[in-house]
Parts: sequence; C-alpha cells; structure tokens
Amino acid sequence: MILAFDDYDTETTFETDVVVVGTGAGGAAAGANLAEQGRRVLFVEEGGYHPTSSFNPYTTQSVPRMYRDASATVIFGRTPIPYVEGRCVGGSTVINGGMAYRTPDRVLAEWEATTGSSDMGPRAMAPLFEAVEAIISARKQSDDSIGEDSRIMQRGAEKKGWHYTTNRRNQDRCVGANNCALGCPTGAKQSTLVSYMPRAMKAGAECITEVRVERLLIEGGRAVGVVGRAIDPRTRRLTKKITVRARAVVISCGAVQTPVLLQRHRLGRPSRQLGKNFHCHPNAKVLAVYPQDVDGWKGVSQNTQIREFHEDGILMAENFVSPSILAAYLPYHGDRAWELMQRYRQMVLSGVLVEDSNSGSVRRTFAGMPYVSYELTALDHARFKRGVKLLAGMHFDMGAEYVMLPFHNQQIAHSPDDLKRIDDLQTDVRTLELFTPHLMGTCRMGADPKTSVVDLSGQLWDLPGCYVADASVFPTAIGVNPQVTIMALATRVAERLQLKQQAA
Ligand SMILES: Cc1cc2nc3c(=O)[nH]c(=O)nc-3n(C[C@H](O)[C@H](O)[C@H](O)COP(=O)(O)OP(=O)(O)OC[C@H]3O[C@@H](n4cnc5c(N)ncnc54)[C@H](O)[C@@H]3O)c2cc1C
Ligand code: SF4
Repeated sequence: MILAFDDYDTETTFETDVVVVGTGAGGAAAGANLAEQGRRVLFVEEGGYHPTSSFNPYTTQSVPRMYRDASATVIFGRTPIPYVEGRCVGGSTVINGGMAYRTPDRVLAEWEATTGSSDMGPRAMAPLFEAVEAIISARKQSDDSIGEDSRIMQRGAEKKGWHYTTNRRNQDRCVGANNCALGCPTGAKQSTLVSYMPRAMKAGAECITEVRVERLLIEGGRAVGVVGRAIDPRTRRLTKKITVRARAVVISCGAVQTPVLLQRHRLGRPSRQLGKNFHCHPNAKVLAVYPQDVDGWKGVSQNTQIREFHEDGILMAENFVSPSILAAYLPYHGDRAWELMQRYRQMVLSGVLVEDSNSGSVRRTFAGMPYVSYELTALDHARFKRGVKLLAGMHFDMGAEYVMLPFHNQQIAHSPDDLKRIDDLQTDVRTLELFTPHLMGTCRMGADPKTSVVDLSGQLWDLPGCYVADASVFPTAIGVNPQVTIMALATRVAERLQLKQQAA
C-alpha cells in the first residue's frame, strides 16, 4: 500500500512495529530488511511516488518533482557549494548516477581503528556489501551502452599512462539512455524505487508519501513514533496532521535532514557531535569542447573513473547531463550562452572530485530549516587546482578545441599554456565554482558515546528506540560514491534493531 495526500483525514494515526522515515539508500535498505525479517514496517516519505513510467527528459517537470527545493540548496562558506538531494520515493537514488562502489579498504581500516571495533573493518563489512550488490545488481556496463565521451576519457587516460577503472553501476540492462539524473525511464537503474522498495512491499511493508516528519514521539525516555504533516502537492503547504506510533523508529532522511530533525529534541548530548563532521566530496566541473561530434548523451553518463591520483584525494570522471542542466552551469548568459550551447554535441562534461580534508556542520535554524556550512582547506584548494590542470590538459592532448574551467576569474582555457596560469591566478579559494551530490557524516557511528552520536547498531546513545540508517552515520568521508556503503550500514542497522517489548 502506498498512500498520498488525498488519502489522509485532517488527523490520521497509524500504528506499526517500525516506522522508517525516508525511502532513499538508507531507509529503503533498512525497511526492506526489517520487513523481510517479519517486522511490520511503515515508511514515511516527504516526496511523492513517481513510477518509472513517469520519468522523462524534461528538467522543468522532473526537477521540482524529485529534487528538494527544486535543487536550489547551498552549503555556505567562503566557497558556496550548491548541493542536491532527492525528495521522492527512492530518495536520491532515483536521481543519482548509479555508480556502485564499496567503501575502500583503507577507509574501513581507519574506521576499525578509530572506533576500536572490528565491526567496521573490511572483513566484517564484506558480507554486507555482497548482499547489497546482489540486490541492486551492481555490475559493469555492457559494451554497447558506453558513450563516446567515456571512450575519450579512457583513451585520454591511456595516452597519459593513468590508471582508470570502468564503473560498476547498479543497473540491469542499462541501454545508456543517459537520463539518470531525471529518473531512469527504462527501469534499468536499480534505485531503491525499483529494488529495495518493491522487496519491502512484497514482504508486507506500507508507505505513506507526501508527509514531512517534524518531530519524534518520545515517552518514558524512549522513541515511540513520529509526528508530521502532509504536504498538499498542489500548494506545497503543510496541512493534515499525521501521527505514527511504533515500537522502534528509524530515521533515514539523509545527512542534512536527519540531524535537523534530531536537533529539534536536543539529542546527541553525550558527544555534542550531532550535526558536526559533515563531509561532502566537493566536485569541480571541467567542460571540454571538441571539434568533432561526441554526442555525449548517447551512452551511460558515468562509466569511467580515472583513479591515478586517488591516493592523493583526487578522482576524475565524465558525467554528461541534459542541455538544460548543463546550460544552468555555464558562466555565460544571452548570446554567449546560446553560442556555447550550440556546441552541445561536441562537449565532454567531466569533473574533479576531491576527498574532503575538512568537515563542516549542519545546524537547525529557528524556522526548522538546515543551515549547512563548510570551508575548504588550502589542501583541498591545491587538489582542485592540480586536478583541473591534469584533466583539462588531458582534454587538450585528446584534441579539445577549448576547455571551460571552474574558476570565476579564469573561465576558459584555449591551450595548455593557459593552464600554466592557474597557479598564478587561483590564489583565492573564493574563485572556485563547486557542486556536490554527496552528503555524509552528521550523526557519526562509533563505539564511544563521548565521540559518536549513534552506537554500532545505529541507535542514538541518548534515545533508546531511535536508530539512524543513512549517510549521516559515516565516521569519515569515504572518497568514493557512497550509496553502497549507506545500504550496507543500513542493512546492519536492520539486523541489530531491537523492538520495544509489548506489554503483556
Ligand atoms: C545527482 C546525484 C548523483 C549521485 N550519484 C551517485 C552515484 O553515482 N553513486 C553513488 O553511490 N551515490 C551517488 N549519489 C549519492 C547517493 O545517491 C546518496 O548519497 C544516497 O542516496 C543518500 O542516501 P540517504 O539514505 O542518506 O538519503 P536519500 O537517498 O537522500 O534519502 C532521504 C529521503 O528522506 C526523505 N526525507 C528527508 N527528510 C524527511 C522528513 N523530514 N520526513 C519524511 N521524509 C524525509 C527524502 O525525501 C528522501 O527521499 C548521487 C546523488 C545525487 C543527488
Ligand atoms: S543510462 Fe539510461 S538506461 Fe542506463 S541507468 Fe541511466 S537512465 Fe537508465
């Protein structure tokens, strides 16, 4: 059963074993596992239910429908970083690129050392990754789904002698339609909308959509449910009151929304870490324009990652997007933007992803909204400059006519010589243009209540019955795409969750 706004009375109360708030990577994986264990599960999702048949390439329809605040969300700092989150059944997995990577062993070894628990180490995590990968069908792309933009990246890396990898993606018969960011129209991408959620429903779970949870229900020092309001999809006003009573609560609203909900109750007191340790893998775009047609929209959007500099905290990848999304990222407007967009067929859109060397924070404002702040370090800045020089240089080696750079004061390079000026011109971090879809770490998991927000089962140290299962629980940034790690940790939360005993 999936309910929506018109199905609710002015005040409606539900009762279940476990209420799971959010249906993205963490929520859907936790809820499906719980339902398959025989628990009664009710999902509460703020966004709407949009099936595969409704997905299309029209940005003006799809973005307001499936992106939080139509993607107008920003991390504040000297370098503001726009970020995006999904808001629909399936959460951010519906709009993501589908790359499916395990947490690197070096990160797990660090988690094992810092938490002092082998639970977080490579050996204990391996079976969880295997289970997730089987469910979301993580595998390499078929040869005929790979586009020319990806092949240029591969040939460029080979020419330079750089190590690259072809991505494992959560897909089953992906035809390379390149609409991942607006919902996969063939159902090939195994977002939680088409993987974990149907499993959960088959095992008896139910889902109420268009309901924003605003607070927890706490009785006798234990979480016993949530309270929210339904959102009228026509006006976006929060109206009808919804209460869910449960024997355990799982919060899976993502690394920005989860701490904001918990901060309402002043939780995370033992460590004072709630909302801190925010990481975001900032990205910088490098757009190369070639003399020949590349037709980057033909073929999967993200198939290659250049990993030569991964140990130095730098990843490079291509990521083609629809014309309207791309146009929004251009530094130009009017005739100049139009001229550039006429070269759309000849573009390769690529980017540099930097592993954070700093952390930021998420705070709840008086209006109950998140305020996200984050500062880049000198090391991050140096990594971006190096990554951009290397990637743009590779495009020139491959014959690019010119390359658009992610700097306000140096928007274009016409030759490799122009790249030599990057070090002289890029002395201030504020000239960088960044973006991120990876948000992590605001309810860090650990074995010590003095340094973490949730324990190794995902339960809040200071609120029994309340668990977190999403990207918030990462102890640190992981340096690769996070969905598989989130699903693996959420699977563990489901395995360890304890229900409140029922009165005899
Ligand atoms: C454009 C884009 C591309 C990406 N590409 C990749 C990729 O290729 N590979 C990869 O591994 N990762 C990728 N990611 C990241 C990955 O999708 C996310 O890290 C992951 O989905 C986060 O999982 P989550 O459970 O923390 O949150 P989400 O998946 O964002 O789910 C949170 C859910 O909670 C709901 N919610 C929030 N607050 C409330 C509330 N108060 N009440 C009720 N419901 C609420 C939201 O509507 C949402 O559905 C990408 C993300 C984006 C946006
Ligand atoms: S490339 Fe196309 S078919 Fe493949 S997962 Fe993305 S949207 Fe679906």
